[in-house]
Amino acid sequence: MARIGFIGVGNMGGPMSVNLAKAQHQVRAFDLSAAAVAAAEAGGATAAASVAEAVKDAEVVVTMLPAGAHVRETYLGEGGILANAPKGALLIDSSTIDVATARDVIAAAKEAGFDMLDAPVSGGTGGAEAGTLTFMVGGEAAAFARGKPAFEAMGKTIVHCGAPGAGQAVKACNNMMLAITMIGVSEGFNLADALGIDRQIVYDVCSTATANSWALSTYCPVPGPAPNSPANRDFQAGFTADMMLKDLRLAQDAAQKAGVSTPLGSEAQALYALFSNMGHGGKDFSGIIRMLRGET
Ligand code: NAD
Repeated sequence: MARIGFIGVGNMGGPMSVNLAKAQHQVRAFDLSAAAVAAAEAGGATAAASVAEAVKDAEVVVTMLPAGAHVRETYLGEGGILANAPKGALLIDSSTIDVATARDVIAAAKEAGFDMLDAPVSGGTGGAEAGTLTFMVGGEAAAFARGKPAFEAMGKTIVHCGAPGAGQAVKACNNMMLAITMIGVSEGFNLADALGIDRQIVYDVCSTATANSWALSTYCPVPGPAPNSPANRDFQAGFTADMMLKDLRLAQDAAQKAGVSTPLGSEAQALYALFSNMGHGGKDFSGIIRMLRGET
């Protein structure tokens, strides 16, 4: 079992670090939030007072931070991971960040003598707690093989997507598809409502017909047909609209840099920005159905 330094033990990183500890790894956790560290400690991790303390002696380092700037600072900054982890440690960043930052940080890590993987996740806080996350991993095959035991303690589906940055690229594509699909499903229900069709009928037909999708069958944006979807609890997140907006911006940034046209991705970003500006950024992203229906 490995000695693992874990930086960023918030909503996602907290339960992920606990699952590593449950799998008998020795986990040392650090976060700027003392409450987050205390929760990880209660779940079996050891508290660290700094990044340096968390990563000293580590064989594997996992980071789960809000955005690219935090990742850059935590790896490259003074007192950061590259300056303090033992040479040869495997570095895994599971934050959702832009492809360019992921590639930059991985290149800097390589130059400093570390193998590093970008390994964003899908599955939300429920998946983090249950240890059923999907990991989308970019980096060299040998590094991917080294990371497998840690990934397996935190997730169920672990896919090597390709070269450094490929994990972030797949994550951006997935979430852009999801946002567009959720808007489409919402429009379908709103039209059916206006035409006087029972929502359960719409669900029963469309979820077994060609319109089926995860957004419809599992995360249905109207209450009733999928009892566990956020629509049944007044759109309490789940996955917030602001996080979806962040991921749509990452996808549009990548599309622009690659010269690819993604008109529906761009429209989805504009609609989620509007939804957020209306004060609903903290609601689940499926709540956008209300705005599309004309509710404020
Ligand atoms: P969070 O805000 O709950 O956790 C992030 C943690 O990082 C916080 O506890 C914060 O204090 C800590 N942090 C920030 N800067 C730090 C630093 N310099 N040093 C140490 N700790 C620092 O966010 P989260 O929901 O856990 O999300 C983390 C990442 O996972 C994000 O990139 C997000 O997009 C991604 N993600 C989230 C979900 C979800 O459903 N919540 C799903 C998939 C992916």
